Amino acid sequence: METVIYAVILLGLLGLLAGTFLAFAAKKFEVKENSRKIITEIVLPGINCGACGYPGCSAFAKGFINGEVDKNGCVPGKRQGVPEKLELISKMSDEELNELYESASEEESKIKEELEKKL
Ligand code: SF4
Repeated sequence: METVIYAVILLGLLGLLAGTFLAFAAKKFEVKENSRKIITEIVLPGINCGACGYPGCSAFAKGFINGEVDKNGCVPGKRQGVPEKLELISKMSDEELNELYESASEEESKIKEELEKKL
């Protein structure tokens, strides 16, 4: 009986140690989302048509923030004011974009509204 109790205590301690280590590792190696890329993706139509030459809107957004593609590259977005919004995003600092992203509680519609107000 004693052996079972020791085994349970030992397993409990090992579980506690593993949990502590995993919590520490999750915090230490946390990957922060890039608000510039997220907001760029939000203003794109999101239909992943490939007309821009990229496999989808996410790839276009990445290309845009890396300076590989022009703000007019999204063909279906031209009628929706995407080039103007991309221009605005490119002029905003990382701090402004982080603030916008956090103040809008990561809600796409609120982020779009805030960008519309700035145009
Ligand atoms: S053209 Fe516009 S809508 Fe189509 S995949 Fe590219 S970014 Fe997305």
